[in-house]
Amino acid sequence: MQAQDSTAPSAARPELSVVIPVFNEADNLDLLIARLMPVLERCVASCEVIFVDDGSRDGTMETLRRLNHQDHRIQAISFSRNFGKEIAIAAGLDQAQGAGVVIMDADLQHPPETIEAFVHEWRQGYKNIYGQRTDRQTDSPLRRLLTERFYQLFGKFGETSLPAGAGDFRLLDRQAVEALCAMGERARFSKGLYAWIGFQSKGVPFEVAERAHGTSKFSYRKLTRFALDGLMSFSTLPLKVWSYIGMMVSLFALIMAIYFLIETVVRGIDVPGFASLIVSIMFFGGIQLLSLGILGEYIGRIFAEVKRRPLYLIAERLGPEGAEQDLQPVPQRHRQRI
Ligand code: UDP
Ligand code: MG
Repeated sequence: MQAQDSTAPSAARPELSVVIPVFNEADNLDLLIARLMPVLERCVASCEVIFVDDGSRDGTMETLRRLNHQDHRIQAISFSRNFGKEIAIAAGLDQAQGAGVVIMDADLQHPPETIEAFVHEWRQGYKNIYGQRTDRQTDSPLRRLLTERFYQLFGKFGETSLPAGAGDFRLLDRQAVEALCAMGERARFSKGLYAWIGFQSKGVPFEVAERAHGTSKFSYRKLTRFALDGLMSFSTLPLKVWSYIGMMVSLFALIMAIYFLIETVVRGIDVPGFASLIVSIMFFGGIQLLSLGILGEYIGRIFAEVKRRPLYLIAERLGPEGAEQDLQPVPQRHRQRI
């Protein structure tokens, strides 16, 4: 492969950066690069590919070192541990220098060829171009069902609406990237953030391919966490709904009290109902614990945010000049941007 493209507008700012979060994807990287680089060479004047190694333990970094050595446009940062895909994307955006930035998965589920269509839309003036998956056949039926329900729920209660089928596969103009980098939040639900920043957006349909090697890194537990993060960062309804439920329950209790009073005083009937008493105590006890739990979820998130720990820690960098291990392992985001 060739070295840095001589037609680059400037060495510091390539036309396009591609950010790829990787977690134990060593088997996919050669395949990915073999398909990605020709596409990039075809459609942009200069490019850089930034892998964010999210604490892999399978030799991903060794492969990246070899790729970086072969072609300095291929660069990488490696986290000190697994921080999760959302944070890896944030780190990639911090690092990316390009006038436009593509975000994609490493497992070839996002076909690199679609980038050509993204670039075409970008040149038309769109700033937030997202890949729109045409079907979810590659996901299991249970995952499809849960995903669908989640998006319905988000559509109803979330403060921003998410375009159907849009995911992380997208091209963002520098303006949009800067907007995303300025958001310091920890519980990062990128899909919501991409929609929240706005800018002229355009969907480009693409078919999700099968994963090239390995299995999905998202367990149902991780996905549930992710869904909760999404709903709680973009809606305060779960917090507010309890005052309405409380009001309704009090009203119901008042009506019942009046009814029982009339029963005993006017008609002189003693009210039986030990069982109903126990059931209602348990029912309302349950509701109270649930509402406390939801308060706890929000307070936990506030706690995580106020600690202001760095979003991620970089252990190693593979820059345009090769390995740069002597750099301080402090992420850019540690600069406080308020
Ligand atoms: N990934 C990551 N950190 C994680 C989990 C996943 O960087 O903790 C990366 C992974 O290597 C891949 C992308 O995120 O490039 C999408 O992951 P995956 O294919 O497992 O997700 P799915 O396609 O099932 O949503
Ligand atoms: Mg995948």
